Amino acid sequence: MKNGISLFKYGASLLGIVFLSATIYAAEETAPGVKGMSEEEFTPTKEVLAVKYVQADKPYHMDVESLKDRFKDAKGVKVALQKQDKAFPNGGGSVSSAEVKAVHDGTTIYFQISWSDPTKNVRAIAVQEFRDAVALMFPLGAVEVTPAEHFSPRMGDREKPVNLWHWKADWEADLVAKGELEDVEAQYPNMHDDFNTNPYSAYYHRELITSVAVLSGGRAANNLLSQPGRGRTVEDLNAEGFGTLTTQDHQDVNGCSHYEDGTWTVIIYRSLITEDPHDVQFVPGGNSYFNMAVWNGEEKDRNGQKNISTQWHPITLERVAWQ
Ligand code: CA
Ligand code: CA
Repeated sequence: MKNGISLFKYGASLLGIVFLSATIYAAEETAPGVKGMSEEEFTPTKEVLAVKYVQADKPYHMDVESLKDRFKDAKGVKVALQKQDKAFPNGGGSVSSAEVKAVHDGTTIYFQISWSDPTKNVRAIAVQEFRDAVALMFPLGAVEVTPAEHFSPRMGDREKPVNLWHWKADWEADLVAKGELEDVEAQYPNMHDDFNTNPYSAYYHRELITSVAVLSGGRAANNLLSQPGRGRTVEDLNAEGFGTLTTQDHQDVNGCSHYEDGTWTVIIYRSLITEDPHDVQFVPGGNSYFNMAVWNGEEKDRNGQKNISTQWHPITLERVAWQ
């Protein structure tokens, strides 16, 4: 009987160890709601994006029309896109590919991304409305992406941070809107407004209706989404894995777009080098990697519900040709 109890105890503790190690193993492999990744995703594509050096002055207007000529001799890469299928909630799948070209002029790097999208979605004011958008992602620091390195091409990972440049169609619409922010009245021009219809309101509630902190918490908290006059169409962000996306204090990226015949052409540009330690840095003659995602607002794409590439794409920067 004594031996039977010992055996039972031994068996129970062995079972406990097995259970504990299975739990630890599961915790290391995936976060809750995130499915595992295949080895193929940790291998960069063979095709390399050559960032061509072009000698060209900055145009007066930074728009697609003025910038498109500098891409004419640049060789593009076609990036296959698919539904985001690992982190819940999954979504996307309506955009199957995009073409990316890149050039630099010795001081600024320009990425031109074009993709087919039958709908131009440039407003995200109503709750059922979502914007078209595209994001580029780069590893931070000098990184060699190899299968052994396990550098996630999805949102980076702990100790493997990424820098993201997120162009948003509605931010570009804001730039030309009155007050540099398309607000609720743009979507609902006949909406009822208590402040404007109450003749005593302005007098009795003057402190309230002039308080940014009370009426616009987002603006008071310096949330870029709520800011009028942000003066840019691209948000500069960092991430270290799913659910860690964070806007930067130092915004350095800008962009412009053109929509015609069911095709978006977006040009995103930034100085090759910045002073921000959270930014990717580009050196002529050097290498890096990029990955990307596209959102189609018409299909209700937003946040993690997007069309993604599941591999890193190598980048090489051509040296500056001194004359
Ligand atoms: Ca669209
Ligand atoms: Ca920055």
